Amino acid sequence: MAGRDDLVKEMANLMMQGAIMLDKTCPLDNLPLFKLRNGDIVCPRHGKVVIVASEEEARDVEVEGIIREVRYRAAKKVLESMDDNDVAGMKEWLAVLEAAERILSLRRGSTEQKSSENKASAGKSGR
Ligand SMILES: [Zn+2]
Repeated sequence: MAGRDDLVKEMANLMMQGAIMLDKTCPLDNLPLFKLRNGDIVCPRHGKVVIVASEEEARDVEVEGIIREVRYRAAKKVLESMDDNDVAGMKEWLAVLEAAERILSLRRGSTEQKSSENKASAGKSGR
């Protein structure tokens, strides 16, 4: 097990490299996490961690799943309303379906933008 002094030394080391201490902690040992200049998030004991990013991603995936579920149920309701000759209900569910579709396409648009930005910056630093 690494001694306390080693960890303090490592933290001081990170700070000297321009790392910023975050208000988030490592889920494994509750040590403060540091953000490096290159954007990596590290724990003084475990090194690079991706917990922060993946937590966000997991939530993102959850939201996406919910919107897809809404879209699916609305689509089924449209059919049900159609079978019942309920034109008003059909229109309402179509509006929900449309909104869900719009949200999904907006989300797709923003993630595409993000990844192309990443590509652009990666290309720049590569040369
Ligand atoms: Zn840790």
